[in-house]
Amino acid sequence: MTGTLFIVATPIGNLDDITFRAVETLKSVDLVLAEDTRHSQKILNHFDIKTPISAFHDYNEREKCTTVIDKLKKGESIALISDAGTPLISDPGYVLVSVAKKNSVNVVPIPGPSALIAALSASGIPSDCFSFFGFLPSKQNARIKILKTFVSRPETIIVYESPKRILATLTDMLFVFGEAREVCLAKELTKTFETILTTNIPSLIDYITSDLNHQKGEFVLLISSSGKKIQLELDQQLDNLLPVLCSEMGASKAAKLAAKITGIDKKYCYQRAIEL
Ligand code: SAM
Repeated sequence: MTGTLFIVATPIGNLDDITFRAVETLKSVDLVLAEDTRHSQKILNHFDIKTPISAFHDYNEREKCTTVIDKLKKGESIALISDAGTPLISDPGYVLVSVAKKNSVNVVPIPGPSALIAALSASGIPSDCFSFFGFLPSKQNARIKILKTFVSRPETIIVYESPKRILATLTDMLFVFGEAREVCLAKELTKTFETILTTNIPSLIDYITSDLNHQKGEFVLLISSSGKKIQLELDQQLDNLLPVLCSEMGASKAAKLAAKITGIDKKYCYQRAIEL
């Protein structure tokens, strides 16, 4: 019987965010694999988890895979954690999970915090469709190149950024997206100085430069798509207009008139009118 590989999410700041299932799993497995064993040992101690811990990071992931898979094949259960949040999300683990699957090892996720989802959920930026790009390149040319590919994408874009580069990245974003684009900066999520600002890029630059402390910590940036913003504004116009028109005339006439006034597609206006 092969063992199970558990992919266990841990808190991104506030230790109360660990799940009951995560604690139970970390207590019950034979081994915990962690990026930084010293950091993770503190978390295990906090929850009175006595399971042995072993290092598993970007530098040894490939070589360590063989040993880990052997253990799993012998029936051991192993949990993978990262320094914070969900393993594999801008963190090591992909190679291990992929090799485990190829070796028919059962891989079980124990879901929990992830900075990108926490940020998206509280940003006020459209959340129906989004893409996550991890960390942007550290070199400015490469960063601007990738930012340019985001300009007309129809979905929300989410990236991680470090305190070292937050100002440089926001400055490049201003150059690429201009002043009006709606962006959210989510900083120190779940921690004492949690800050979630959804505004335009110049205001975020003001915030970051107004106090050196504002540049410290961990950041998620969310870039709203230009199209979504326009769509929301158009919907807002229709929400104001259609009830008034519909109180005076039928939905079909109201939709025609709304389409004339706003320039929005007639069929779309009709759809919104009959949904009132
Ligand atoms: N695996 C993690 C997850 O699920 O979110 C991400 C790990 S990645 C190496 C670390 C980056 O995630 C940080 O540099 C920051 O961009 C983001 N991050 C992690 N914790 C955060 C927090 N509490 N607040 C804001 N961003 C955070």
